Amino acid sequence: MSPDEIFPIFFGTWVILGIISFAIFFLGKNAELKRKLWPPFVIGTGVLFIGFIYAMGLQGQALYIMVLAVILITFLNLRSAKFCDACGKTIISQNFLIKPKFCSKCGEKLQ
Ligand SMILES: [Zn+2]
Repeated sequence: MSPDEIFPIFFGTWVILGIISFAIFFLGKNAELKRKLWPPFVIGTGVLFIGFIYAMGLQGQALYIMVLAVILITFLNLRSAKFCDACGKTIISQNFLIKPKFCSKCGEKLQ
């Protein structure tokens, strides 16, 4: 497949993943489910993204830099997301260096 054929597939997959993740992590209230799904989701989308840019023909140093960036973003996403047991809200820290301690919606202490 050529990059011109791959791109619409990439874009479509990304939109669908975006809708699913929005429904689960931002509309959903099930903190337990979110906590279970978040790591495979974040890691899965990272792997998928690298797979697509590789399929699109990115090579060499540019690919290497993108892989490092995706690993870093994946790590930060895993670290900065918390799920409130009281109200089910997804809390993503704006500051990656500080883990959120309290729910921004109901004030419950986060695990
Ligand atoms: Zn809460």
